[in-house]
This record gives sequence, C-alpha cells and structure tokens, in this order.
Amino acid sequence: MQTRFKPEQLADPDVHEAEQVLRKCVHCGFCTATCPTYVLLGDELDSPRGRIYLIKDMLENDRPATAEVVRHIDRCLSCLACMTTCPSGVHYQHLIDHARVHVERTYRRPWRERWKRDVLAAVLPYPKRFAAAMRLGMLARPVIARMPAGVSRLRNLLQERFDPRVRAPRSASPSAAERPSTGADRAGVRPTRRVALLEGCVESVLTPEIHAAAKRVLAAAGVDVVSVPGCCGSIVHHLGRERDNRRLAGALIDSLQREIDGEGLDAILSTASGCGTHAKDYGFLFRNDASIAARAASVAERVRDVSEYMREIGLPEPVRRLGLSVAYHSACSMQHGQKVDAQPRELLARAGFEIRTIPEGHLCCGSAGTYNLLQPEIADRLRDRKVEHIARTNADVVATGNIGCIVQLASAAGMPVVHTVELLDWALGGPAPSALSSELASRSEQ
Ligand code: SF4
Ligand code: SF4
Repeated sequence: MQTRFKPEQLADPDVHEAEQVLRKCVHCGFCTATCPTYVLLGDELDSPRGRIYLIKDMLENDRPATAEVVRHIDRCLSCLACMTTCPSGVHYQHLIDHARVHVERTYRRPWRERWKRDVLAAVLPYPKRFAAAMRLGMLARPVIARMPAGVSRLRNLLQERFDPRVRAPRSASPSAAERPSTGADRAGVRPTRRVALLEGCVESVLTPEIHAAAKRVLAAAGVDVVSVPGCCGSIVHHLGRERDNRRLAGALIDSLQREIDGEGLDAILSTASGCGTHAKDYGFLFRNDASIAARAASVAERVRDVSEYMREIGLPEPVRRLGLSVAYHSACSMQHGQKVDAQPRELLARAGFEIRTIPEGHLCCGSAGTYNLLQPEIADRLRDRKVEHIARTNADVVATGNIGCIVQLASAAGMPVVHTVELLDWALGGPAPSALSSELASRSEQ
C-alpha cells in the first residue's frame, strides 16, 4: 500500500512503525474471511482491511479520531485472526495498538463510556481493588441489577466466586485432605529447572486454583516455581492507556529481572494466554526506551505459555486415566497471538483425554479482554455462535488456556469450562477441577 507520510511525521518512531505495517498491506482482502466482526456485521469498515484504511487516513492526515473511526476500532476484538490469515505478513497487532493510543489521545468519549473505561482501568489490574470491588458488588447487587448489560455481566461472572449463596469460595490450594498422595506429592521430585509463574490480576482473583494447579504440574515435572505477582499491563493496553501499560509492565519486568539476576530463570510462564501474548511483546513495547529496553527484551524472550513449556520439557506419566472427552477451545491470544495451538491438545491427549475439535475454531468467543464488557452485543453473538459449535462436539468438558474465555463461555456452554492445566493436574493426581460436578468427577475417576 502506498503511503504519503511527511518526513517530520516519520520522525516519530511509532508513526514510522505504523507506516512500515501499512506498506505491507496489498489490499487482497483474504483477512476479511476470518475476521469475526466482518463475518457477523458484513461491513467492510469492520474488517481488517477496512480498519487499516481508516487508520491510514487518520494517521497520514494527522487527524484526531472521529466518532465513526472510533466505532470501528472499538469493535475490533484484537483477536489477531487476521494476522494468521494475512499472506503479506501485515503486523496488524502493532497497527491497531498504535491506533488505540491515538484514539485515547485525540478523542473525547461520551461520559458514560469514559466512566466505564476509567473504572475498568482503575480496578481490574489490581487484585486487591478487584476483589474488594467484587465483594462490594455483591452487597450492592440490587443496584447493579438495574445497571447496563455490560456491568450486570460483570456481576454475574463474579457472583459465582464471591456470593456464598451461589457457591462456596474456591480455595487457592487444596487442603491436604483434598490432595491425593500421588501427583501432588510428586513435588518431592528434585527440581532441575527454575521458572517464574505470573500470578496476573483477574485470574488471581477469580480462579486462583489455576495457578495452584500449574504449580503442582510443574513441581511434578521437577520444576522449581517462584510466583511473581503483578498485572502485565494487557488490560489497560487494550484500552489504549499507554502510560498505565508501561507503568504496570515496567514494574513486572523489574520484578522478573530481579529473579533472573538472583537465582536465575529458565522461563517465565503464564497461565493466561492474553497476558502471555502481551509479555512476549515487551521487547517491542520498550524498544525505544534505553532505560529498560534490554531488560524488557530479556524478559520477553523467556516468556512461554505454561502448555508450551510443558510440551517442551515433557509431561510426567499420568497416574489416573480419566476417560473424559474434551472440546479444546483455542483462545485467540493462544492460537493467533502466540501461535501455540498443537501443544495443549498434545498434552491433553498424552494425559489420557479424548480431544474433540470445535468447528470454526479460528473465530473468537467474544471475550477479548474487556471487550465483552464494552461491546456486549457483539460479544454475546460470538459467544452464542461458539457455544453452538461446542455443543456439536458432545464433549464432557471444555478446556482452554485463558481466563477470559473461561468466564465468557462458562455461563452458556452447557458443560464445565476449565483451564487445560487443571485437567493435566487432575490426571497427574491433583484435585478434580472445581468447575466439574462432583458426580462427573467421581464417575471419571472410576
Ligand atoms: S483483530 Fe480480529 S476483529 Fe480485529 S480486524 Fe483482526 S480479525 Fe478482525
Ligand atoms: S490479508 Fe493482509 S495484505 Fe491482504 S488485505 Fe488483509 S491485511 Fe492487507
């Protein structure tokens, strides 16, 4: 694609990078076929190619974002299916990220939107605030029930965890009584490797049992694990809040670098593929900041999804044959963002599960960070479409590697939705995933 940026515009390294991305696009339109918003809405401006034109026009002419441009940029899920499809190697991720920052700088949203986005940015990346807000939300349930769909949705997601009348709170680590002697006691295996396991933000509040399961699986494989708290910055990054993103990501990089300089790290693992995708891009994010660029690149090159790492080092021999069929849902950030797709399926198969393929698996489930809170109508349509495909598999359980997808699908899937690592942990002797009914869990263990 021809561009007409002026030399003074290209002096800005971010605009220069955007220009490089734009020049690679040859308008072929292959990406439209796999773009969820184009598939649903049929509007060229809600396709990758259409958005690329809008962004080019906005940046080239140094224009503030208009309401129309913002509407189409906001509807993009950042699922990155277009990057998987594009034959020309257009790095759409970096382009849309830059466009979101430009929108945030130049466009004043209506107050309701501003308020919603401010609240999300001020609460979600901070586990203590998030947990407190959820408890408060449960107290204020009658008020929240009258709020707009996006906010009520948040209440539903969290009710399960924080409302004791709906469900007893899950425990981050099972009691000794819950823990079978095999598997968890494999933690006695002498560690030969050392990794950092990211605690994250939303996942650590909603489903701490995922982190606990990953630690047991790693311990069983002889890996010493240090848990590192802190949000990776992905949530605010997708809201276009670059200063917040750099602050959160920078703090996490510093914590991880201390571990690298101290006892050393073979890898940095994430159990949330959205976070993993973002952390793998830290080298790019900080490329122009000499004060942190080298540390950011050193951290980024060690980041792996937990399934990617377990596939590399090898899963220990399972101690249980569970005989469940699993519909594996490949999160967009996993398959398109990190190009990790075969590994989780291979691990689950090795652990004894029968893997069922979900038709149209390349399309997003509508979760996409805060997308399901900010664009609930499109998110619901994508979720319903995904759930229909999941139902066709007739599987016992859905497994995925991202907390956002678990939350998005759990209420509608009609079957338990669990993290891949919870199933691996169970097969290795850990507790059954808490989302499984006790009847299904005990039937499977027989
Ligand atoms: S990131 Fe996803 S929603 Fe956005 S343009 Fe690409 S395919 Fe479409
Ligand atoms: S597939 Fe790639 S080159 Fe073709 S229109 Fe889409 S982004 Fe441009």
